[in-house]
Amino acid sequence: MAFLEIVGVRKSFGATVAVEHFDLTVERGEFVSFLGPSGCGKTTTLRMVAGFEKPTTGRIIIDGVDVTDMPPNRRNIGMVFQSYALFPNMTVAENIGFGLKIARRPADEIRARVEELLRIMHMPEFGRRYPYQLSGGQQQRVALARALAIHPKVLLLDEPLSALDAKIRASLRQEIREIQRQLGITTIYVTHDQEEAMALSDRIVVMSRGRVEQIGTPFEVYNFPATRFVASFVGTLNLIQATVVDAALGLLSIEGRPIRVARPLVQHRPGDAISLAIRPELIALDGQMNGEVNRLSGIVEDVTFLGSIVRVQVHLSANKLHLDLFNNPQLRPPQPGSSITVQFAPEACLVLGEDGSPHHS
Ligand code: ATP
Repeated sequence: MAFLEIVGVRKSFGATVAVEHFDLTVERGEFVSFLGPSGCGKTTTLRMVAGFEKPTTGRIIIDGVDVTDMPPNRRNIGMVFQSYALFPNMTVAENIGFGLKIARRPADEIRARVEELLRIMHMPEFGRRYPYQLSGGQQQRVALARALAIHPKVLLLDEPLSALDAKIRASLRQEIREIQRQLGITTIYVTHDQEEAMALSDRIVVMSRGRVEQIGTPFEVYNFPATRFVASFVGTLNLIQATVVDAALGLLSIEGRPIRVARPLVQHRPGDAISLAIRPELIALDGQMNGEVNRLSGIVEDVTFLGSIVRVQVHLSANKLHLDLFNNPQLRPPQPGSSITVQFAPEACLVLGEDGSPHHS
């Protein structure tokens, strides 16, 4: 059932169009991320859901109620920002209970709710501390508890982890997801970090220049990108120049070598120059794959040991490509300067047309 609906929303600031043609339906309890580069309109969209900005056109509907003209404080929304924005002169408990106090809830109820949230946040002993006595990660957990205290219908998170260092970011990310699942709260999460969006979300809305490029599960967005932008923004991608040989048979040529893709190239003619996109983890060393494979040879240019994977950069004649190998202590990685032949399945190839329109081969 649709719980939150963003219908035909557009927002302009004078001549600047920040968001256009935005349509989204979020299910109750769903975790949806807005993902895109700086300036693509993520925050503006979130602020329209919160009520801090009014759409130029379009409607926002929460739980069946059109809230487009409703002020933020009547929408029953919890919000967490990048900067923790805790009240510095209030204790942790007072910060968490603030919204309930404003709503004139009885003191007993506030105390019980604050204790419950401190427990959920794994911070039962922290109620009497002040924000300056907390680490960044703890402050952000308090900000989250404060947002949740009022039992909001929707939780909105705007880059809540970006001020934290990598380790804390990863553990708090996990915690946010667990708490969200436990409470079943409908959540929208703004981020420019594709890894974060993939790890957290039921669905991702990929945005670019004020427009929705694709809405899908992390699996769909990564494996079946709808546009060239999505393909290159989400994950690492090799883009290799190829020429169409036989469109109906899915036959291409890369640097004179025949390459087969899994589907006909419906939009192309022989001789067309196209970009072939392949994820690095779908390219293997020669001899490692069964079935029909494409082969290309080149020289190893660089090898980067990243722990669980080893990234190898290969120089073909006119193209470069990266392949990711799983770390294996029994196998020495390829050495820079050596010759190498790599292979990949026809199914690994994404054909991205010059117009950016997708079709998965
Ligand atoms: P970031 O990750 O940097 O916050 P974003 O994707 O959240 O980026 P928005 O903050 O939504 O992007 O901004 C989208 C566009 O709208 C930008 O071009 C921005 O300059 C413009 N914009 C946002 N708010 C205003 C405003 N109050 N007045 C004028 N232009 C604005």
